[in-house]
Amino acid sequence: MKNKYFYLYTNVVPVRGFKRSIICDLERGKYDFIPNDLFDIVKKFNGKKINSIFDKFKKDNYVVVLEYFNFLVKKEYIYLSDNKIGISNNKKIEFEHPNSLLNAIIDVNINSNYNFNNFIKQISELNCHYLQIRFYGLVDKLKILEILNYTKSTNLRFIQIIIKKNIFSNKKLYDLILKHPRIRSIIVFGCKVSLSKDIYESKIHYTKDIITSCNQCGIIDSDLFSVNIDNYRLSKNYNSCLYKKISIDVNGKVKNCPSMLENYGSINKISIEKIIKTENFKKFDKITKDQIKVCKDCEFRYICTDCRVFVEGNIHSKPLKCNYNPYKTKWEI
Ligand code: SF4
Ligand code: SF4
Repeated sequence: MKNKYFYLYTNVVPVRGFKRSIICDLERGKYDFIPNDLFDIVKKFNGKKINSIFDKFKKDNYVVVLEYFNFLVKKEYIYLSDNKIGISNNKKIEFEHPNSLLNAIIDVNINSNYNFNNFIKQISELNCHYLQIRFYGLVDKLKILEILNYTKSTNLRFIQIIIKKNIFSNKKLYDLILKHPRIRSIIVFGCKVSLSKDIYESKIHYTKDIITSCNQCGIIDSDLFSVNIDNYRLSKNYNSCLYKKISIDVNGKVKNCPSMLENYGSINKISIEKIIKTENFKKFDKITKDQIKVCKDCEFRYICTDCRVFVEGNIHSKPLKCNYNPYKTKWEI
């Protein structure tokens, strides 16, 4: 092994944290913890002969370095080669999306009475593909069906709905998915047990959580990490929650996110196309995890989600609903 060159696989990226690092396989959606020493070795010596690394260490450390490499080979994070291959260790990671909008949130409660169709039509015309619709409380069935009907014949591709249990029977939920194949995910809250079911091409998640308003948004949990190329690139370049996101709150006010106080006015009076071009709307786009206090030292920063509303201090502070401490490598209670 010592005489071979080693190379990280193309979609494998190591991420350094304050006390430890992770190595992510963005293709297969998995990661492992590695010590910061190994991160430094991999970053500095990728594409070099393993022998050249040994020259930099005292003999006492050889066993440990070999163990490191055995681990990386076994987990298929690196491959070994007899030949030198030209690679660039400083490739710029870019994320550009041609669409004006990437995702949208619609919030609805029992009093919501704004022009749902107007919002859905406008975001569809702007080629928005992802829509989350959150129904708080016992929203009238007819209102829910009316809103879902507006999503037919649009450019939307992935719709997630969040809905209270007992509004629809299971059978009716399955029918909804059949009738609206764009519904790829349904979260049913207030259930006795938490479980997931695959229904046709979609998923229904039943959860014990009770969701009553947008104030419950912004939770950071390792279960919500996404280890994939798109999220990695997005997090490196833009804000992983608010980039090209538009929302409408329960009162029909258009916002970057429903939990924000600042709004752009009522959907009945505004053009979303105009709003999303303004610098004010785009001000959150560029806040990457590398600019956020604490997160910038966290090994999870490119697989994590973000929140810019519920924060510990100012707009560059850590999400308030994250209990992870990268300086102690602990999820604190
Ligand atoms: S910024 Fe926070 S509150 Fe707003 S949508 Fe994102 S996670 Fe939710
Ligand atoms: S510290 Fe920041 S990056 Fe790390 S888990 Fe919490 S929110 Fe995510």
